[in-house]
Amino acid sequence: MSAALPSPSFDRNEVRARFALDYVRDRHRRLIAGEEVIVHCHHYNSRIQRTVEGAAGIDGKAIFRTAARTAFLRQITAGFRDGDDETARWAVAEELFAELGYGSLDLADPASDTVHQSAGHFVEGWGVAFADQSKPVCTLAEGFIEAAFMAVRGESVEVRETHCMHCGASQCSFSIRRGVEAWTAPSRPARRESVSTSADAELADSNIDDNAIIQAVVGLPIRGGDDGLIPAFGVYLANTPADFYNQVAIEFVEAMSESGQRETACRLLSEAGESCAMNTFRGIMDSAEWEALVAPMLQEPADTLFALVALSNAFGWGNWRITEHEPGETLEIVSFNGYEALGFLESRGQATQAQCWMLQGVSAGMMALVYGEGSFSERFGTYLTEEHDCIAKGNTMCAFAVEES
Ligand SMILES: [Zn+2]
Ligand SMILES: [Zn+2]
Repeated sequence: MSAALPSPSFDRNEVRARFALDYVRDRHRRLIAGEEVIVHCHHYNSRIQRTVEGAAGIDGKAIFRTAARTAFLRQITAGFRDGDDETARWAVAEELFAELGYGSLDLADPASDTVHQSAGHFVEGWGVAFADQSKPVCTLAEGFIEAAFMAVRGESVEVRETHCMHCGASQCSFSIRRGVEAWTAPSRPARRESVSTSADAELADSNIDDNAIIQAVVGLPIRGGDDGLIPAFGVYLANTPADFYNQVAIEFVEAMSESGQRETACRLLSEAGESCAMNTFRGIMDSAEWEALVAPMLQEPADTLFALVALSNAFGWGNWRITEHEPGETLEIVSFNGYEALGFLESRGQATQAQCWMLQGVSAGMMALVYGEGSFSERFGTYLTEEHDCIAKGNTMCAFAVEES
């Protein structure tokens, strides 16, 4: 918020407190302002974006932007309180963007035709992962700003990034076009929940104290600092609505299916998960937090795998557990309420095929990270996952079998 426009109703800390994390322990869900959020790093987020926006023959940018607009309209609105004036409501939007870890937006002058961003999660992500600097990368921010105009003023605007720090600009700039066709957000599909405990599955043993890891990670302040970024574990983290990821993945697969490329689409989504597992978890394993908390529990290589699963449960990836493991060879893992499966059920109904691309990729990536050798590119694809059961197909849990490819 610009210092030039103080508002008597605006107190930054009070606004941030509206977005305090609510961790639902028995389901491993992270809620912020009523929206389930998933912790992912810049590697995953920028890779998913590049996958969707880079595919030929579909409008991936529109898929990404619209999914952001839909999820953030709900979340921004949930941050409003009775008595908020318009200045306070713009501040709510700004602070949500920063709290979630996307960076720093300046919405202090909504009458202007331009909005600026001085730090961006996707700018960091693309800067690390991809050399191509020819196109702006802050599509999620475009959707977020469109949602903010709708939430604060009920106004439909079209937001496009004209200059991006990723392409060398000193700050990202977004043009605001008014008088565009009115848009409305679809209402949220009815929430479903599935089995929340591991009662039906026989779990494999390890030397890892899951609860200690989960408790410690949930206690970490995974929230944006002054610049709205969350550097942690050697990566940049962000809290992203599960419904955003689900809408992006489902619409991407549907759009690609129209040109007969369904399998390619699913493979690409799964590869983003695999890359995420290797990059994020490697960063985590090299971090001081890991050294202090997890390293003392590790007695054999397999323990690392169990620790990573506990950690991903704290990140909200889907309450999953290892049921069988042959070190270096095979892994059987189940998930009781993965957001991908539930999201598909909620918006599309029962599926004929498994739908959990991220968890499929992460399962393979964890095995490659813990047991593989050589660089990441040499390890990539050395393990393959088959999701034989999926909640989206009507099974009581998702079940993944991983083996060497
Ligand atoms: Zn940008
Ligand atoms: Zn599944």
